[in-house]
Amino acid sequence: MIELMRTSKDSMAQSYAGDVYNTAVYLKRAFADVNVGIMSAVGEDALSLDMIERFGSESINSELVFKSDSRNAGMYLIQTDDEGERTFTYWRENSAARTVMAYVDKYVTAELSQSDVFFFSGISLAVIEPQDRDALWSLISTLKANGVQIIFDPNYRARMWSTPAEAKLQFEKAFRLSDMVLPGIDDFAQLYGIDTFDGIIEFCQPFEISELVIKNGPEGVRVITANQSEHFAIQAVDNVVDTTSAGDSFNGLYVGARLQGLDISQAVHLASKAAAVVIQHRGAIVPSADFSAAFIQQYM
Ligand code: ADP
Repeated sequence: MIELMRTSKDSMAQSYAGDVYNTAVYLKRAFADVNVGIMSAVGEDALSLDMIERFGSESINSELVFKSDSRNAGMYLIQTDDEGERTFTYWRENSAARTVMAYVDKYVTAELSQSDVFFFSGISLAVIEPQDRDALWSLISTLKANGVQIIFDPNYRARMWSTPAEAKLQFEKAFRLSDMVLPGIDDFAQLYGIDTFDGIIEFCQPFEISELVIKNGPEGVRVITANQSEHFAIQAVDNVVDTTSAGDSFNGLYVGARLQGLDISQAVHLASKAAAVVIQHRGAIVPSADFSAAFIQQYM
């Protein structure tokens, strides 16, 4: 999405963000050898075209970013009040991204089937037009059958769903098909009223998720696999500036590290260090040079 941030009463800074995009950016910055692509739809407007250029400047493949001739890219505005409290205003009801499944044919499915990993989120699910959801589930089932690892972050946003029951129904399908799930405790607290690691582990048991990675801000990370359940402490950051993209940057580093064959403990270490850098900067995407100095050069 196009991100606008008010810098004074009558001016704004403009950038791009979105949970899957943020994840892709941090994964690619840390693991340059991994091919990372985005599937979405944008418009033919100047900002949409710039967005595709931005994907390129982050070395993210945009072959599957389709151009709608009738819709534009979604947009949101972040305003911060005197106490630092942020409010978000969205213009995305008619965004091109909502129609992305209309572009998915057998060629796109075959292309995606060559991937090692397909990553999607609860925001992806909420954005896609409800009548296209079956097509998404059919795509994901095909990918899974072709050996693609399915990875899901619930990223529950109550106001994107017409009812909590609708979200629960879609999330259950996602949990059932996913090999790896990376929820924040907040997602479960808001949607299911479950606010402990153990509660989430119990809830997820029937879905037989191979790798469940539960994030809880500075309170630590719990990773559960078939033969291991391990808790990792997180070194809390004192000067948190903006937690936007904490979970996304964590996901990008965690997934990248696991793809590159690093073990769970190394993956959590890198992911939490990257997230710690990201929350000490304003906005979802830390400028590349700053991220490189504070994270890549220190930990990679
Ligand atoms: P989500 O955004 O998915 O809800 P969290 O809020 O749990 O995820 O944050 C994701 C990750 O960011 C955490 O697992 C942790 O590594 C890091 N993080 C978040 N808040 C802090 C903090 N105050 N201090 C240090 N690390 C943090």
